[in-house]
Amino acid sequence: MLPYLDQSKLRITNPYGKIDASYTAGYHTGLDFVSDGEKLITAIASGKVIRSQLYGAWGNFIVVQQEDGLYCVYAHLSRRDVACGDYVAQGQVIGQEGSTGNSTGSHLHIELEQTYYDPYSTINIADYLGIKNEVGAVEYLPSEWAKDAQAWAINQGVSDGKSPKEEVTREQVWTMLYRLR
Ligand SMILES: [Zn+2]
Repeated sequence: MLPYLDQSKLRITNPYGKIDASYTAGYHTGLDFVSDGEKLITAIASGKVIRSQLYGAWGNFIVVQQEDGLYCVYAHLSRRDVACGDYVAQGQVIGQEGSTGNSTGSHLHIELEQTYYDPYSTINIADYLGIKNEVGAVEYLPSEWAKDAQAWAINQGVSDGKSPKEEVTREQVWTMLYRLR
């Protein structure tokens, strides 16, 4: 799930992994988003808030310890709507995009760390979100699961696979598998 309530005018302004010596790790450890519409930020996954404060380069930032074990940092916020110790649900509004801390314009820096506060432990958050890691409007990538399901559906003759937007849902696959048993 993307970190914005309104995803209609969302774009990526700085991809994950971009090499730049000015970053602590020597590369961009997260992804920068800008919304040209509503700027309310939502949690990409549920978990517990372990930081919610105004501090240093990250400005107003929130860290959620997710149920999948990863630590998600939401930085440069103009406003924080959750406090340390709060439990947040996936999709819940937690703040608003801003330009606090080390930032030259309103944007969200979001990153996923395997070890909290270790910039060398980040994972490719674009992959995690299922989107292309490129500057510009957000583009979704079909998940590995969706690709497998699509290939299987074509093989079974239930999809012609011609329409690139066609995607077989998990429910459809389960229904088909059930019928074949
Ligand atoms: Zn950034």
